[in-house]
Amino acid sequence: MLVDTVKGMYINGEWVQAESGSMLEVFNPATREKITEIPSGGKKEADEAIRSANAAFESWSELTARERSNYLYKAYHLMLERKEKLASILTEEQGKPLKEARGEIEFAASFLLWYAEEANRVYGEMIPSSKKNKRLWVVPKPIGVVAAITPWNFPAAMITRKVGPALAAGCPVVLKPAEQTPLSAIEIVKIFEEVGLPKGVLNLVVGDPVEIGKEIMDSSDVRLVTFTGSTEVGKLLMEGSAQTVKKLALELGGHAPLLVFEDADLDLAVDQAIASKYRNCGQTCICTNRLYVHSDVKDQFLEKLEAKVRELRIGNGSDETVDIGPLIDDSGLNKVKDQVEDAVSKGAELMTGGKQWDGPGGYFFEPTILANVTDDMKIMSQETFGPVVPIQTFDRDEEAIAAANNTNYGLASFLFTNNLNRAIKVMEKLDYGIIGINDVFPGTAEAPFGGIKESGLGKEGGHEGIKEYLEMKYVSLAVSDKL
Ligand code: ADP
Repeated sequence: MLVDTVKGMYINGEWVQAESGSMLEVFNPATREKITEIPSGGKKEADEAIRSANAAFESWSELTARERSNYLYKAYHLMLERKEKLASILTEEQGKPLKEARGEIEFAASFLLWYAEEANRVYGEMIPSSKKNKRLWVVPKPIGVVAAITPWNFPAAMITRKVGPALAAGCPVVLKPAEQTPLSAIEIVKIFEEVGLPKGVLNLVVGDPVEIGKEIMDSSDVRLVTFTGSTEVGKLLMEGSAQTVKKLALELGGHAPLLVFEDADLDLAVDQAIASKYRNCGQTCICTNRLYVHSDVKDQFLEKLEAKVRELRIGNGSDETVDIGPLIDDSGLNKVKDQVEDAVSKGAELMTGGKQWDGPGGYFFEPTILANVTDDMKIMSQETFGPVVPIQTFDRDEEAIAAANNTNYGLASFLFTNNLNRAIKVMEKLDYGIIGINDVFPGTAEAPFGGIKESGLGKEGGHEGIKEYLEMKYVSLAVSDKL
């Protein structure tokens, strides 16, 4: 057992049990076996966590930026020291292959480092006044208590991408991780405890999402909710925020198109399409959800793609040789099965995969390619979150752009071409917050990640990321002529 089961929720610098006594069971999706159970909180714990964060706000925000950044630097180093342990826990509760889990821990740590640095660069502004006797300036201030609601697909990185900038900006945090993956959250909070973060600055509440979510949304002390998850829940949070006029930063679903033009490096496009589609078993919000290939290179592309997809090794992520782990749970598996059945019943050609795989007993689905897909199939509009790639062809650039933009989502899109002019023209016309040109891994701590349309509001990462956690106070000072 890698996990210390005694740890429960972390409120006001103490590890606490749930008052109700209820417990949350955590399962390994590769085997469906129970890993452990942890205290499962609700309204009461959420309320205490918010109070504790609120009480810590003043003193935390009054530290110097350098003092706050020092905690983040220490947490960054400790996270890297613990990489192997954190990666094993992550794989056990989430399922992704260990090599990906190690990559996620490095990615998670990179946000602590980046925001340790950014803490020291929160600048204000002096405005040249139109009146002789006025002096105007803008002072950035931390927004207040932040609630961070995080998903299970990146159980570590989605936490640090929110907690890092919040703490850097001077905001205390109430963290509510996904119920499927609370163990990584516990380990991350332990790191902050060990680096001596003052009590109340980071609080962890695990449990009933609806009850905890309501307490967060109803509280006037919580000034920002930063959320990564489904568009459905994002919309609920938008409704919930109206009563207290809270700020929201939302990182929601996606339906990324990947375009392969006839002049693309096909070997690169195949390798990157596989990396984009099958990483994390297809469970990332920027995963390729639809692939459009130019009809001149379709046969060549599909032949290469199929050969490589057939070589992917599926299995328990703790096995170092595995490329694809399980889906997170039954509902994830059923959604993928349903989309594949729907596509095949409407005439899609199953090139490889297409079935559940029992393996060690988990929620596995074979890496799947669907050709001759049409727009009426569910997979072309619903987010898949699984290892299935549907493929269509196109002949003209305008056709590919129109197809790519034909969605309410607007998170990430990808294009493969060796024609610089085409790359620029197509990029300019794609309605997406993130565009990868010959690159399916755009996510990095120093760049602003975020979607448009129903994929969300706000940015995470980059110098933009910390702005979500700040409010701009405008100050106008009247001066007299006298010296
Ligand atoms: P998914 O469908 O991928 O599991 P969700 O949007 O349901 O994504 O979950 C993302 C996060 O949102 C998780 O931490 C989950 O517990 C939380 N969540 C789910 N429903 C609510 C809700 N009604 N209010 C607040 N948080 C919620």
